[in-house]
Amino acid sequence: MRGRIIHTTMAALPAPRTLAPRSDVVVVGAGVLGLGHAVEAVRAGLQVTVVDAEERLLGASVRGFGHACVAGQPAPLRPAALDTRERWLDLGARAGFWVGDAGTLAVARGLDELAVLTQLRDERDGVGITMLDADDTARRLGPGARQVVGGALLTEDVRIEPRHAVPALAAWLAHQPGVRFLWSTHVHSVTDGLVQTSRGDLHADHAVICLGHDLDRLLPDVAAAAGLRRCRQHMLRLAPPDRTRIAPAVITGLSMLRQPALAAQPAADDVRRRIAAERPELVEHDVDLVLAQRPDGDLVVGDTHDLRAGVDPFSSESLDRLLLDETARLLGVPGLHVKERWLGVHAEGDDDVLVHALDARTTVVSATHGVSVGLGLAADVVRRVVAGRALPAVVRPPARLCFFRDNRATRS
Ligand SMILES: Cc1cc2nc3c(=O)[nH]c(=O)nc-3n(C[C@H](O)[C@H](O)[C@H](O)COP(=O)(O)OP(=O)(O)OC[C@H]3O[C@@H](n4cnc5c(N)ncnc54)[C@H](O)[C@@H]3O)c2cc1C
Repeated sequence: MRGRIIHTTMAALPAPRTLAPRSDVVVVGAGVLGLGHAVEAVRAGLQVTVVDAEERLLGASVRGFGHACVAGQPAPLRPAALDTRERWLDLGARAGFWVGDAGTLAVARGLDELAVLTQLRDERDGVGITMLDADDTARRLGPGARQVVGGALLTEDVRIEPRHAVPALAAWLAHQPGVRFLWSTHVHSVTDGLVQTSRGDLHADHAVICLGHDLDRLLPDVAAAAGLRRCRQHMLRLAPPDRTRIAPAVITGLSMLRQPALAAQPAADDVRRRIAAERPELVEHDVDLVLAQRPDGDLVVGDTHDLRAGVDPFSSESLDRLLLDETARLLGVPGLHVKERWLGVHAEGDDDVLVHALDARTTVVSATHGVSVGLGLAADVVRRVVAGRALPAVVRPPARLCFFRDNRATRS
């Protein structure tokens, strides 16, 4: 009845109840990381319950480019990245979603950018990287492309359309034997196989927590110890300019400052210095100019990066304008039509990956480039859990992997 005031007390609320039969594994969070763990647990013949606070997928996993940038991962993460590539291709076929395997076109518009690509090619003995001359690079980018001095095709990279692929993966998983999904179910505590949720308790032999940037809400000490910060990003979906068909993802010199394996090359310092001098606004907003053409032809373009504490809800038009102008300049087109704008938020840590044993039966997993390494990483974690093997203690930077086990979430 409208206007009625409801008085209630804790005693009047229903007592916590057991929400579902016991599972072998409870996965908290249904993004790419959580689904990756669920897939592997199902493959191992385990009963799995996946719990997510939202009614549908809304996290980082559906807000990005869906670009599994295998070539961009540092050496310690290369096995997980290569494994992730194979798993995307396999799961796309099983669950019926598109996986583009045309790689990534890395466009160099300065000789220093070309040097970064050449250095990575040499470091990898040419594996997965084919250098391209200026004409070939420009031709692949489109008829208007200008200022291109060369480029490379990163052949190991794959791409999904995340807004379709990740829900399709969840829907496929939900039909596998032994799998149960609980949506709209907020987890507020996980200890020793007991998962307490807004709708009752769950019991499992093991729980895996994959909350992305929301880890700082459930386990603030763990997030703080791992240096996890919320990164806020501007993203755009554009109508494609005439005749634009670009099968690979496209990355630029700005990506050479962000993708770990590229940013680690000696020439990346020259790129950083030059861009900072010529275009300080791009460095100030940590712009990474990336393009991904969806199967329907639209271009997904991004992104800016803002790591200041507290995700600002106010979106400056000037940042979208910066992305639009840079995209128009790259493609050599006069103007672009925006179809959608959105904010991405994802977790960036001191290290690219976090695997933390909260207790003997609870593992926390997070990744900065989860689409690129998440499925392989999840497979590794589940293999260790199934085998009853301890997670490795600590691998410190420069490995840029952070495996640590300490209930107080401090790095010893
Ligand atoms: C704009 C943008 C571009 C990106 N581009 C790329 C890229 O090109 N390549 C790449 O590799 N990576 C990219 N990333 C990063 C990548 O998307 C993330 O690393 C990855 O999706 C993280 O997956 P996740 O499952 O850990 O987190 P999420 O996808 O955020 O999933 C976490 C889930 O946990 C749920 N949850 C939160 N709190 C609770 C709770 N208390 N109880 C229950 N459920 C809860 C949320 O509802 C959510 O569904 C990008 C990210 C963004 C935002």
